[in-house]
Amino acid sequence: MVDCIIIGSGPAGISAALTLQANRKSFLIFGSQDLSEKVEKAEKIHNYPGLADVSGREFLSALKTQLERAEIDIIEEKVAGVYALKDKYTVMTQGNKTYESKGVILACGVESIKQVEGEEEFLGRGVSYCATCDGFLYKDKTIAVICTSKRLEHEIGYLADFAQKVYLIPMYKDIEVQRDNIHMIRKMPKAIIGARRVEKLHFAGEEDLAVDGVFMLRESLSPAVLVGGLQTENGHAVVARDMSTNLKGCYAAGDCTGRPYQYAKAVGEGNIAAHALSEFLK
Ligand SMILES: Cc1cc2nc3c(=O)[nH]c(=O)nc-3n(C[C@H](O)[C@H](O)[C@H](O)COP(=O)(O)OP(=O)(O)OC[C@H]3O[C@@H](n4cnc5c(N)ncnc54)[C@H](O)[C@@H]3O)c2cc1C
Repeated sequence: MVDCIIIGSGPAGISAALTLQANRKSFLIFGSQDLSEKVEKAEKIHNYPGLADVSGREFLSALKTQLERAEIDIIEEKVAGVYALKDKYTVMTQGNKTYESKGVILACGVESIKQVEGEEEFLGRGVSYCATCDGFLYKDKTIAVICTSKRLEHEIGYLADFAQKVYLIPMYKDIEVQRDNIHMIRKMPKAIIGARRVEKLHFAGEEDLAVDGVFMLRESLSPAVLVGGLQTENGHAVVARDMSTNLKGCYAAGDCTGRPYQYAKAVGEGNIAAHALSEFLK
């Protein structure tokens, strides 16, 4: 069992990892080899101390070099759930692997695309965030897939292997998946509706679409979806000054704790969370 599992490989998670390493704590960090789409997309960064006018790509490249030198490897797996047990945490990935740790740092960022009405209400009753966890439940059924990032495109193909019909609603332009059972829709639904389970997708000014399930393929899951029992407010983890949450041993840092959404804040909070967790482990 490691001391800490960090969820997220953006500036907050990387800062937490570097601080835990300096404090000689064992840890695993989950995320992407590309670290953070939000860093990569920044055209010019003007407000990060010491790095005047760098592009997002330059910042990303500097972060990758630093991780390489520190010999910190990112585990390229998406975390599907974090479970607080009596004196440890179990972290489950979308590939159904489990990992254990004494503490957790949530550095999962925020999804900039708004939630669809009904998304939380029908979670586990037809709404899913995980293709590999729940795709098999929709064999020969009709599903809608709302995909927010090209990096998650492979999950659409996975779902199309099971479902009879897939309504694909991509939130980006250069979509590359093509299958006979995939029907593209270029409009965001207004609401997910149903009685006990998901039944329909509602679009403004159009006929409702009958579906058995809705998959939300997002880069970042909301902290409340990720960790059962976590206290949140407006979709953000509620934290104290030392970045601790309401769950003992669970800390949060970066965009997932709220505004301002900025690199300097993310990095500072990652550092504080790692120090506080190191104290907690004593
Ligand atoms: C276009 C753009 C330009 C910006 N420009 C600036 C700027 O100039 N200055 C500034 O200060 N800020 C800027 N920002 C904001 C800045 O990018 C964010 O504040 C910062 O990236 C937050 O860092 P983070 O580590 O909290 O989250 P993120 O950078 O979002 O990183 C979170 C990481 O966690 C991963 N993750 C999420 N959930 C899971 C999971 N369940 N399992 C595994 N991994 C997971 C994600 O894939 C991602 O890699 C910009 C943002 C955008 C979108």
